Amino acid sequence: MIQISNLHKWFDQLEVLKGIDLLIPRGETAVIIGPSGSGKTTLLRCLNLLEIPTQGTIELGNKSIHFDKSTKLTSTEIVSFRKSTGMVFQGYNLFPHLTALENIIEGQIIVLKKTKAEAEKKARALLEKVGLGDRADMYPHQLSGGQQQRVGIARAMAMEPEVLLFDEPTSALDPELVGEVLKVIKDLAKENMTQVIVTHEMNFAREVADQVIFMDQGVVVEKGTPSEIFQNTKNQRTLQFLNKVA
Ligand code: ATP
Repeated sequence: MIQISNLHKWFDQLEVLKGIDLLIPRGETAVIIGPSGSGKTTLLRCLNLLEIPTQGTIELGNKSIHFDKSTKLTSTEIVSFRKSTGMVFQGYNLFPHLTALENIIEGQIIVLKKTKAEAEKKARALLEKVGLGDRADMYPHQLSGGQQQRVGIARAMAMEPEVLLFDEPTSALDPELVGEVLKVIKDLAKENMTQVIVTHEMNFAREVADQVIFMDQGVVVEKGTPSEIFQNTKNQRTLQFLNKVA
């Protein structure tokens, strides 16, 4: 479960998030859509404290942090909160000098303090799950973009996070590789992984989302089921956006 209350983020004089309220129940997939610059990525980065919110509250599972001018988080607090989230980036961000398997093992040993044998067992199972059981010993440069991104998802899953966060996970991929990554995310949704996904893929949003969140200019304009947002919205700003991207 993620609950976000009255979340604000300023970059110097620029207010990028202007009081966001959201509830994403455990096991649900929320998809954030909206025009460029509306604050989608910033919101996602606030959820794992890659950006520190200026004001508001984030509750994630059994952890809760309130932010205001006097909030000073220690690195231990940040790491502890961040452990609850797994982030999948646009550009894969795999370690180039480690194999697919090693990429998935590393964090389990360092952060979760697992033994090498335990970490490897889990890594192999996750590679199977994302359809890459036979690519364990390959280095990132020997894998396609779609395969690298699937390793990225397996690596995030290996940390057993409360929630997976995806920042435009397919936008760096050639079109023919998009489907294989979206399928992995859809499978995770079916297995009731809690996920928050920023995407420009409207068809995917329609298929995978329990909740669609439309953001514009730092506010949540509208949220609802895919059919409420994509078929039945009466909101002018939502309609304008959907007409542009359709
Ligand atoms: P896109 O769809 O193009 O990725 P977005 O909706 O994800 O856009 P953000 O990346 O969250 O939008 O950016 C929102 C606003 O915040 C933009 O005006 C951007 O320039 C600004 N911004 C983001 N990060 C920073 C930063 N580190 N410093 C200053 N301004 C920033």
